[in-house]
Amino acid sequence: MARKLAAGNWKMNGLEAALSELDTIAAAIGADDMPEVAICPPFTLVAAAAERAKGNLAIGGQDCHAEAAGAHTGDVSAEMLKDAGATYVILGHSERRQDHGETDADVAAKVQAAWDAELSVILCCGESLAQREADETLDVVRRQLDGSIPEGATAENLVVAYEPIWAIGTGRVAEPPQIAEVHDAMRAALRERFGDETGKAIRLLYGGSVKAGNAAEIFATSNVDGALVGGASLKAGDFLPIVEALG
Ligand code: 13P
Repeated sequence: MARKLAAGNWKMNGLEAALSELDTIAAAIGADDMPEVAICPPFTLVAAAAERAKGNLAIGGQDCHAEAAGAHTGDVSAEMLKDAGATYVILGHSERRQDHGETDADVAAKVQAAWDAELSVILCCGESLAQREADETLDVVRRQLDGSIPEGATAENLVVAYEPIWAIGTGRVAEPPQIAEVHDAMRAALRERFGDETGKAIRLLYGGSVKAGNAAEIFATSNVDGALVGGASLKAGDFLPIVEALG
């Protein structure tokens, strides 16, 4: 069984003072039998976070450019994230797809860039409420996986996060049977495409209003290998019970 993963996505939150939360998390997860923990702070904190994580805690970015360097004002490359101490990068988050018009092809190019820089990717997918109500969920997720993941995925370089858009930041968490249906379908798609061994070993995270109070039920669900946590990852006191529920 692959090591479970609790990942925190700080989104556009976190000033220098927030690094003390990382110290608390890093100190609490020293033991080897704990799940893997990754925090993805905003770009401005990645280098300092990597310094403070002391190897206990993986650090990731929340996006990267598809090119390694060049005339792209305001963008950050995968190589830069790696250089700053990151080992992960979140790609294809619905907020990037919505706010920046990222297509599956754009995301696939970024995934390739991240792999070229030896970063592991947390690839996000998930349907809107309208798509769920139109019974399109499995088609949407399948299309996103097919279009956003280039050839060459392995259990080391890829984690997939299912994040139904209607559950993000809304307090409305998907029901375990809804999560199981999508995670089982994602597992089948990954096995079909990348072979049985790799497809079984790629970790599948659920994201969308995960909190201490609902984490255990989510983690008991079929094909859930961890969580991608937004709001509840900002404070160590909210995040650590989720990590414990996974262990
Ligand atoms: P919330 O946990 O705040 O719902 O955010 C989920 C998410 O988008 C993580 O990437």
